[in-house]
Amino acid sequence: MKNNNRITRKEGLRLLRKGDLLELGRMADSARKNLHPEGIVTFIVDRNINYTNVCINRCRFCAFWKTENDPEAYLIERDDLFKKIEETIQLGGTQILIQGGLHPKLDIAYFLSLLKDIKNRFDINVHGFSPPEVCYMADRSDLTIQETLRLLRDAGLDSIPGGGAEILSDRVREILSPRKIKSGRWLKVMEEAHRLGMKTTATMMFGSIEKTEDIIEHLDAVRNLQDRTGGFTAFIPWSFQPGNTALAKSLEHRAKSEKQRAQSGERNAESVEFRSRGKNLALSSGHLVHKIHPATAVEYLKILALSRIYLDNIKNIQASWVTQGLKLAQVALRFGANDFGSTMLEENVIASTGVSYRVSKEDIIKAIRDTGFNPAQRNTQYKILQYY
Ligand code: SF4
Repeated sequence: MKNNNRITRKEGLRLLRKGDLLELGRMADSARKNLHPEGIVTFIVDRNINYTNVCINRCRFCAFWKTENDPEAYLIERDDLFKKIEETIQLGGTQILIQGGLHPKLDIAYFLSLLKDIKNRFDINVHGFSPPEVCYMADRSDLTIQETLRLLRDAGLDSIPGGGAEILSDRVREILSPRKIKSGRWLKVMEEAHRLGMKTTATMMFGSIEKTEDIIEHLDAVRNLQDRTGGFTAFIPWSFQPGNTALAKSLEHRAKSEKQRAQSGERNAESVEFRSRGKNLALSSGHLVHKIHPATAVEYLKILALSRIYLDNIKNIQASWVTQGLKLAQVALRFGANDFGSTMLEENVIASTGVSYRVSKEDIIKAIRDTGFNPAQRNTQYKILQYY
């Protein structure tokens, strides 16, 4: 699928910085039309199961993690897991997306028995364990990434979600999530998975402290890997949701104390900006202050459109109604997206930030139809299961 007329990093940068919104939309819509001329927009019925919220990584942008001793910490019981899968299948679901925090007491044996238990009972696609989880399992059990993936695949893991990518720029990762795997390892897990015949998705979380160059670095890394392996089924760009995250809280606290210090004449608060839902944000790391710019609707649409144009070798681009809401997700279908993602029978991670859009399968079908596309339910491999 490599395109000889593909845009360069320099052109990508220019489009993102100076490109006209509607012009970008037209280019992305035309690229989408070339790849999906039939005018179908797909979605999947699945459930997002977070097996634990205990996580040693404690990323600053994440509102989901708890320490092991926190009263709200949990590890899913096998029976509860089975009940959730049963309900998913009863509702026409074909996939479970199973992900969790990095729990210090869980090793590879736990995950292999989990997968085998699921596969012995249910005929369902297990899309699970993003690269940070895979690396943690590998490191804890002294296995290579390839050995870990092979074990997981043989126990029943079908495909891998692209979570944990955030921005594939180590400069940004060092500030936002210093304990998380670096870009090279995220890409390595995906490459190894593709070489073992497993399909994966790729994500990008923007709207925190990244610069335009970081977004291009991310898109370029994903495109280069896809040229080598062809294993990504879809790309899912979504924007950072600051509510309830440690990042937002520490920044609010910092903004307040800076203001107090400025008012008392101790220092100038000029460098502190906090922009979250109408305010400005800044993050201090060492002596540097990094401004945080939660993405606006226009920025979301521009980045989505550029993703469609730049990633000419990835067939599907998902609109993120979970973070953007159904109405903006409808607009996204004219800015390069051809897939509505999941019906999300359950979603905990974004919900922990306070952002909670709840929609039914019927809402999704209507939203797609109202934009002039034909809705269709798909499976994990993007095979159409039913037209509506
Ligand atoms: S984003 Fe993932 S790795 Fe980071 S703290 Fe949250 S659950 Fe843990």
